[in-house]
Amino acid sequence: TFRALVLTEEEGVVKHAIRELTNADLPEGEVLVDVDYSSLNYKDGLAVSGKGKIVRRYPMVPGIDFAGTVLESASAEWKPGDRVVLTGWGVGERYWGGYSQRARVKGEWLVPLPEGLDSRRAMAIGTAGFTAMLCVMSLEDAGVRPESGTVLVTGAAGGVGSVAVAVLAQLGYRVAAVTGRESAHGYLHGLGAKEVVPREELSEPGRPLEAQRWAGAVDTVGGDMLARVLTEVSYGGAVAACGLAGGAKLNTTVMPFILRGVSLRGVDSVMCPRPRREAAWRRLLTDLPMEMLEEVSRVVPLAEVPELAREILVGQVRGRVVVDVNA
Ligand code: NAP
Repeated sequence: TFRALVLTEEEGVVKHAIRELTNADLPEGEVLVDVDYSSLNYKDGLAVSGKGKIVRRYPMVPGIDFAGTVLESASAEWKPGDRVVLTGWGVGERYWGGYSQRARVKGEWLVPLPEGLDSRRAMAIGTAGFTAMLCVMSLEDAGVRPESGTVLVTGAAGGVGSVAVAVLAQLGYRVAAVTGRESAHGYLHGLGAKEVVPREELSEPGRPLEAQRWAGAVDTVGGDMLARVLTEVSYGGAVAACGLAGGAKLNTTVMPFILRGVSLRGVDSVMCPRPRREAAWRRLLTDLPMEMLEEVSRVVPLAEVPELAREILVGQVRGRVVVDVNA
């Protein structure tokens, strides 16, 4: 037997419990994985708390990412002993996920554990860090360069935000970090931010065009903050939008787009095609200093997930939380 965090729904109320399962309880799939670590992402917070309609069916083992070792494989691509990482594809939403000592999944959802990472570090990056890298790549695709000017990161002390700050700083960008937490200022400077912007300064939508401040932005917050950021992006700049920690509605005008040529670039990690996935993991190895990864992450046992799930939804979790499913 092995242990997993299992969500059930009874009369509309989502409950969670750590249960003993056997391989026979796992869903069908090609590859059986011995999970070392999973992680806590905002979406896991929603799933475990029964919010946001993340989980499509119950019972569900949540956990949208994991890293571990292949135990059995019916896929030609993988063999026992292979070290693998999974993020996205609806795992932990539609399919059983990583808050478990074992997982059975499709072979095509796995990527090889990048050389130079171990499974704990891979999950210190996890979906959030991987998404941060996709956002940086998206800004690069839009032509944003270190010499273009300051790049803003919203929700900076969160998981995606922390990794985005560290990667951008490492690449030589001048980074401004938006946070609602005064206690996080030192942390953000430590990751390489040159400027910390208090959340209140950007929490109103503002006029259709404000003074041009940012060459680019990584936005994890959405809502009025994204609307405000768009009004402050410099001519020809771009915003990579990946999140909704502050809201899903976007109340804006076309002015930044048609008068400043600003572009709003959507970033999705769940269905991201494999070549770009592998490219992002390679980039993380070169562009995210290991000491920064240690700085942003901590490890917790599976039993702490439900409490941390509540905390991440109210913006109380700093950086990345790695979940040791064997602890
Ligand atoms: P997280 O660790 O909770 O980070 C979110 C941060 O946003 C918080 O730490 C907080 O930062 C800030 N924040 C929270 N509530 C806010 C509010 N009401 N107004 C303004 N700022 C607020 O979560 P995460 O795992 O990094 O995920 C961040 C967002 O990205 C989530 O919305 C998540 O769903 C999304 N995401 C999307 C993808 C994708 O594929 N598109 C992948 C991963 C994550 P401060 O305390 O520093 O202000």
